[in-house]
Amino acid sequence: MKMAVFSSKPYDKQFLSAANNGGHSLKFLEPRLTAETASLSSGYEGVCVFVHDELSRPVLDILSSQGCRLVALRCAGFNNVDLVAAQELGITVVRVPAYSPASVAEFAVGLLLTLNRKFHRSYNRVREGNFSLDGLVGFDLEGKTVGVIGTGKIGQIFIRIMRGFDCRVLAHDPHEDNAAKKLGATYVPLETLFAESDIISLHCPLMPSTHHLINTESVLKLKAGVTLINTSRGALIDSSAAIEGIKSGKIGALGLDVYEEESGIFYENLSECIIDDDILMRLLTFPNVMITSHQAFFTKEALENIARTTLGNITEFAGAGTCVNQVK
Ligand code: NAD
Repeated sequence: MKMAVFSSKPYDKQFLSAANNGGHSLKFLEPRLTAETASLSSGYEGVCVFVHDELSRPVLDILSSQGCRLVALRCAGFNNVDLVAAQELGITVVRVPAYSPASVAEFAVGLLLTLNRKFHRSYNRVREGNFSLDGLVGFDLEGKTVGVIGTGKIGQIFIRIMRGFDCRVLAHDPHEDNAAKKLGATYVPLETLFAESDIISLHCPLMPSTHHLINTESVLKLKAGVTLINTSRGALIDSSAAIEGIKSGKIGALGLDVYEEESGIFYENLSECIIDDDILMRLLTFPNVMITSHQAFFTKEALENIARTTLGNITEFAGAGTCVNQVK
């Protein structure tokens, strides 16, 4: 198939080209897919997109008018796609349901350890000849209570790792999973998880029901000094409420790999630019906040799996007109 690959970075080109056994014609385009850039895919049968590409109704309308039949997501989440519009326009949407849940779970643990033990600050201090420990005190993870919201593929690996640290794990998910229970997690109502957890890690998808799950009201219910980690989707947290939570001390540390307004900022080198996002810039001023640029998935294994599944999805759709990884 002739596919226009939006938001292409050098690593996308490298891994997708290596996996392209089916001989699809891939046009690598650097811009993000928006209404303004959609015309770049004119003449292509499908688009291959990532987390910051916009697949709203107006964009899908343009794609459809250009003959697009397939949206191939190079990610698991599909919150950036208007699925109703896609269905009405006869555009099939496929995704990569799982590529390396370990990559994200391990990264969440990395954020937690870094915030707690302040590796980033020690690294810089020691390189400057400052061997003082002032301000670097952390806490033992052993015996602490960890709340895991969303116990799917990533959440379960996170539970396993935290059990390895001898933590007590509380979990919340509308679908309780025996595998998570076997790993040692105890399902509790959200309120209990909020009240008892020293650490909370978010691993649920972004949906209308989870939008701003952490908001002004829920921040008040948290245990004072909680460490909050979000490697899932930015809009699970109301960033303004998080700032107030940090200022009041309710949130003792905040690790974000995702941010609700990350689109157009994350994945770009803006080091020479004035960043027009006062909330993000305020978050970056706190010593107990660590922000990374939607990097949790970024391992060799994940990139290989994403490329292989994405190309496989395109091949399957080209042959059968349907795909096992279709989003409905
Ligand atoms: P998954 O589908 O295996 O698990 C998601 C779980 O969340 C399910 O068990 C589901 O029942 C649960 N859930 C749904 N609504 C909930 C709610 N209201 N409260 C609590 N739990 C709820 O998904 P996964 O592969 O584990 O991925 C989880 C999320 O991680 C994805 O949705 C995606 O947003 C994010 N992600 C981030 C990165 C990254 O690089 N930062 C990479 C991959 C995935």
